[in-house]
Amino acid sequence: MLSPCMPALPSELVPALLDWYRTHARDLPWRRDPSPYRVLLSELMCQQTRVQTALPYFERFVARWPTLEALAAASEDDVLEAWAGLGYYRRARSLHAAARAARDLGGLPPTEDALRALPGIGPYTAGAIASIAFGLPAAAVDGNVERVLSRLDRGPESPWTAAGKRHLQQRARSLHEGRGPTEHAGDLTQALMELGARVCTPTSPTCGGCPVAAACEAQAHGAQTVWPRTRPRKPPTLMAAAVGLIEDEGRILFGRRSPEGLLGGLWEPVMVPVGALADATARSLAEGVPKRIGLEVTVGPRLGTIVHVFSHRKLTAHVFAATPLGGRLSLPPSPEAYADARWAAPGHEPAMSTLARKLLALRNAPPLLLAAEP
Ligand code: SF4
Repeated sequence: MLSPCMPALPSELVPALLDWYRTHARDLPWRRDPSPYRVLLSELMCQQTRVQTALPYFERFVARWPTLEALAAASEDDVLEAWAGLGYYRRARSLHAAARAARDLGGLPPTEDALRALPGIGPYTAGAIASIAFGLPAAAVDGNVERVLSRLDRGPESPWTAAGKRHLQQRARSLHEGRGPTEHAGDLTQALMELGARVCTPTSPTCGGCPVAAACEAQAHGAQTVWPRTRPRKPPTLMAAAVGLIEDEGRILFGRRSPEGLLGGLWEPVMVPVGALADATARSLAEGVPKRIGLEVTVGPRLGTIVHVFSHRKLTAHVFAATPLGGRLSLPPSPEAYADARWAAPGHEPAMSTLARKLLALRNAPPLLLAAEP
């Protein structure tokens, strides 16, 4: 329900949006067959990712796991490996966990509340599945939809707050007011998404081709790029690490992060976090590696430095060549230890993050000509 003081979006927007969507929508595989499973897959893959990037992943996933049950039966390792390169790996774990929970229920449930009760499914994904796959009058506000609604209204002032999010949800839901279930619900939801992605773009909206321009406050005031308001950004947290490309008989040693936290469950060349970049030395690496994988190593030359930016964190890592000194791989009973460790030959690496791929790419780099590391 809309709050009594909040008018519905003008009703003439609905036919304009539907006409525009039906003429201009991109032909995407999940739109041809919007089954609940395919919508779940596409929505998780397209979050914070361009459609063109997500498309080949979607095709590969449905070819390998054509049904929810097939995906639920896969191992998390296989899912993470198939997701590798798409980034934001939490989405892959959410997808897998949601598929397993939904399989146990007999399929994805047909209400917004029940969808939200699945692990890793937030209000956006639940609203998208409810509306696109089940035809329910649900709101799905992603960044594209937020931009369109904020510009239409010139508001809210703080869309990142709970009140701001509620406002946008209500505005998106108001498009469905007075309509029954299945009456264009999925097309309306996707029309807003598509409009934000292709016409009402962040820096150069093409208002001349916009079906709702006549009702747009931002356009009327020449203030399109002022909206939506953005949250004042905090500077990123700085992190540093020493990394060892530990090599033996052509194989590299990988550690697996614990399932919780940043890049949880993914594999990487052995990384030793340090307090400051000045501490990312060969000595820190030699001392830290045994605590993580139980193996002593000899650290060789520094191969380079990688800077990687996560959403709110920036990691700088000095990368060294290293060789095992002997002994067996055995994970020590330490909170610093990896969850698992294994050797892998090139081309047979386990599921890795983009960061791990960048680190590994230094394997063939010539050593840096630097003063001796402490
Ligand atoms: Fe966006 Fe322009 Fe359309 Fe307004 S008129 S919704 S700013 S594209």
